[in-house]
Amino acid sequence: MTAPSPLTASGGDAAPRDDVPARRLLLVHAHPDDESINNGVTMAKYAAEGALVTLVTCTRGEEGEVIPSELAALAPDRDDALGPYREDELAAAMAALGVGDHRFLGGPGRYRDSGMMGAPQNERPDSFWQAPLDEAAADLVAVVREVRPQVLVTYDPNGGYGHPDHIQAHRVAMRGAELAARADFRPELGAAHEIGKIYWNCNPRSVVEEGFELLRAAGRGFPGIAAVDDVPGVVPDAEVTASIAGDPAQVAAKTAAMRAHYTQIAVDGPFFALSNDLGQPLFATEHYRLVHGAPGAPAGAREDDLFAGIGEMVGMQESARIEEVAE
Ligand SMILES: [Zn+2]
Repeated sequence: MTAPSPLTASGGDAAPRDDVPARRLLLVHAHPDDESINNGVTMAKYAAEGALVTLVTCTRGEEGEVIPSELAALAPDRDDALGPYREDELAAAMAALGVGDHRFLGGPGRYRDSGMMGAPQNERPDSFWQAPLDEAAADLVAVVREVRPQVLVTYDPNGGYGHPDHIQAHRVAMRGAELAARADFRPELGAAHEIGKIYWNCNPRSVVEEGFELLRAAGRGFPGIAAVDDVPGVVPDAEVTASIAGDPAQVAAKTAAMRAHYTQIAVDGPFFALSNDLGQPLFATEHYRLVHGAPGAPAGAREDDLFAGIGEMVGMQESARIEEVAE
């Protein structure tokens, strides 16, 4: 489901509007469920604070495995009906997080889930993996220039764990940010916009190791337990530059959002499993690496706000736009 954008009502008018939130966060993900697992706390926090949180999901996750046996017929080798079903799951997750602005890259079903690396689905001409980079990036440029976010969140170059759609989502996010800032690129898509800060999702190794110790001690009923390196984006602690700690309401919202992805995720308290039935920790604090823009914390300290240090920049950009409009 795609919620109507709060920004499109102006008919593409580039003038600043009073009813547009001052802080705007854009997240680019590969499949429905990735946003809740990686950024559920962060999305709930900024939405609750009145920021505009915009999620762009690149595929509908048609090649996912289906956990509940009663829904097994949705699978791609049977009815191939997972895409629309996961659209509804994502809409429920967005409601749990309080996020109203969600879009599929290029529209629902524009790019199909490519399956795991090496799968024959990688070669389908409609797969996201086969999409020409600048074509897919242009679909994102349109969103960037409409929403004009100060902060972008996406995956690292390996997509966190090597899934082709996650790698491609990273490429499209980075290329889209670059092209959106170039006034000579597709001017019909809107006025150029430079995103102030770009973050990649990550998980500090010590936190992941501690989470697995708690899981083993709790003895939850998953058939197995995942390995530390099964968690996407595990990095040495020193590489983490920002941490967003969820309060109880935000953690509850993240947990509810993950449960909404019923075909993909089994949640058990502070732990969850994907279709491989291997338990892993559900993180109440989410971590990031700043890869573009100036850090808003002193050297050596982690940011606790993705918009840290961006206030002045926002003011400068807004006044520049007002001058532009006035001319
Ligand atoms: Zn995914």
